[in-house]
Amino acid sequence: MSTGEDVATRLARIRERVAEAALRVGRRPEEVRILGAAKGQSPEKIREAAAAGLTLVGENYVQEAERKKRELTDLPLSWHLIGPLQKNKARKALGLFDLIETVDRPEIARRLSNLAREAGRVLPVLIQVNIGREKNKAGVLPEDLEDLIRFVVELPNLHLKGLMALPPYREDPEEVRPYFRKLRELRDIIKEKLGLSDLTELSMGMSHDFEVAVEEGATIVRIGTALFGPRTSRKGV
Ligand SMILES: *Cc1c(COP(=O)(O)O)cnc(C)c1O
Repeated sequence: MSTGEDVATRLARIRERVAEAALRVGRRPEEVRILGAAKGQSPEKIREAAAAGLTLVGENYVQEAERKKRELTDLPLSWHLIGPLQKNKARKALGLFDLIETVDRPEIARRLSNLAREAGRVLPVLIQVNIGREKNKAGVLPEDLEDLIRFVVELPNLHLKGLMALPPYREDPEEVRPYFRKLRELRDIIKEKLGLSDLTELSMGMSHDFEVAVEEGATIVRIGTALFGPRTSRKGV
């Protein structure tokens, strides 16, 4: 990755690569949205990306999102939470995010639905799947996914729109392909079995493997460093 380029140039390149990957497998490029994964990036970088046409931003931490959003209230951005959510941060998260991608257990789902009801909202969510069964990673295990989906779709103030995953890191993106494929297959099977026509989103793929993710059906790719450049700090302070 060349670090001399600006955010607008990088976004244009990523768009091209997403489109090429989509076309390779007979998908329409418009089916894939680019989310700027902005942890550790300054509000100015997000502003540059928005000026270049980015509309979707992801943050991992509630407090970091709160601080950065304050400086960007004039921008027409949609914000997704892409990091793990603690129960005691749920109320704050609901106030900050348009969609939460990391629902992974019944307690947090119930809490979010209750808070959304209080706020008179229906909150769109994704369920995070621990697709690589990694001990240190968040997400519901594949074998528990169907039960969690059955639970979430019964909650009146959540709208389940799909699945998200953060597969194991592999230098060679081809080695991540089986995990992306597995997530799509899980989605397809459960969508069909439970008749959930709204289960359309697959949030998967990051800077080094997003083309493979698009080939395997991603509808949201979460791009950090390839879009914004190196992170300035873990929490963007
Ligand atoms: C940081 C992060 C990304 C983006 O990672 P890059 O390798 O910088 O593209 C995507 N998704 C999640 C959940 C992240 O935490």
